[in-house]
Amino acid sequence: MKFLPIFLDSRAGPILLVGAGDPVRARLRLLLAAEAQVRWHATDGDFAVAGLDPAAASRIERVDDPATIGLNEIIAVFCAGAGEIGIAVAARARAAGLPVNVMDDPAHSSFIVPAVVDRGEVVVAVGTGGASPVVARRVRERIEALLPARIGDLAALIGRWRKSVHDRIAHAPLRRRFWERVVDGPIGAAVLAGRSNEADDALTAIADPSAYAGEQASRQAEGRVTLVGAGPGDPDLLTVKALRALQDADIVFYDELVSPEILDRARRDAARVPVGRRVGKPGIGQDAINRLLIDAAKSGQRAVRLKGGDPFIFGRGGEEVEALREAGVACSVVPGITAALGAAAESEVPLTFRHEALRVTFLTAHKARDAEGVDWSALTDRKMTVVVYMGITAADAICSGLLAAGRSPETPVGVFARATCPNAKAVVGTLDRLPALVRRIDGGPAILVIGDVVSRSAPWRDSNPNLLSQTFQMAAE
Ligand code: SAH
Repeated sequence: MKFLPIFLDSRAGPILLVGAGDPVRARLRLLLAAEAQVRWHATDGDFAVAGLDPAAASRIERVDDPATIGLNEIIAVFCAGAGEIGIAVAARARAAGLPVNVMDDPAHSSFIVPAVVDRGEVVVAVGTGGASPVVARRVRERIEALLPARIGDLAALIGRWRKSVHDRIAHAPLRRRFWERVVDGPIGAAVLAGRSNEADDALTAIADPSAYAGEQASRQAEGRVTLVGAGPGDPDLLTVKALRALQDADIVFYDELVSPEILDRARRDAARVPVGRRVGKPGIGQDAINRLLIDAAKSGQRAVRLKGGDPFIFGRGGEEVEALREAGVACSVVPGITAALGAAAESEVPLTFRHEALRVTFLTAHKARDAEGVDWSALTDRKMTVVVYMGITAADAICSGLLAAGRSPETPVGVFARATCPNAKAVVGTLDRLPALVRRIDGGPAILVIGDVVSRSAPWRDSNPNLLSQTFQMAAE
């Protein structure tokens, strides 16, 4: 983040606008929408603006002589389509310590103007550090589509009630919960449906706001734990529900597999606690993690236990749920996209395929010793895709186990490292070469996929172009 987004009180004093043409008129509309008092110097002398309502137009004051533009009282300066005159005014304004924006000219600006989604009280500003207004506009369009039209009314309603609720609920976290219940519940729904009066009546009818906020007899808000699957790495693969849980969290306990980009999606003031294993360092242990989760919930916090992939696929989520239930702590689980599915989608490995792969098995073989404990004879069916988690260090044992049990050495296999992350790497080959393939990925996390379907994957097509053209030739013949 190279620019700090802040919201200027546009009614604190006059704003100077210098320029001509469509650009200056666009700026003028923006400033008037923000209820600003505008001193405008039209560099081409043309002050005509179509379609302004008279109240807005009355807030424009003409400045005719650029040489005498006074900067006293001015709180900010905007130049748009103003050429050299604009640059001269900008230099004077900067010397006077005023914030200045020259449209499309970051070198002469001290701030940039974001793309704005305007819903009354709710304003979303989108910036790209000045790099690409087109990208900013695309983001704005998406947000426009996402935000309910009356979200501004909802903020206005809360603004009207804020003080009285503040006076009646002293405890800040409880107050936040009160407003969350209002926003997420029937009162919020009434406002968004255009029935603000009904919402006002409902708020008036709440005799005990603390009870409404869910206060318990212990005077402590109800804590809980949500186990959230963070997916394989790409933050865009978080589910909507996972995002919501992260946005609601007071505290997030996260694994070593969870990337900073994903952690970034948590509520800004949520505490973040790493509890995973680090390279070369052991983790704090499952019992200690369980205790942290229980203590957080019992102290009234909404804790998120954020895990790579899915919490219930080799993620020890089952143990945590049991410990929480035993301790009487409310908990729920949000599924995530497990590594196998992330890697398969990214590399186009159809884990099942009609007539060809009828079953998928997920297994883990962390150490050679684990691999020796696996019943490989149950995994020799040619129509079964086998996915191995945590199988990198045991690759030799996995390979020899499967071969000894009778799976063909020609079976296609893929090693998918850091799937869905920017530095993802996929290596494909045949089962007899698995240990050599694993050495080519430059570190984990990685999964192994073993089965004929790997020959349908994108990396296989890329590494065997002849094979593909042969297949096409055969099909053509
Ligand atoms: N609960 C997780 C798995 C945790 S076990 C899930 O559902 O995905 C950790 C193992 O997951 C790693 O050793 C590796 O085999 C696999 N893994 C996790 N993220 C991965 C990724 N981005 N790419 C490849 N494998 C990954």
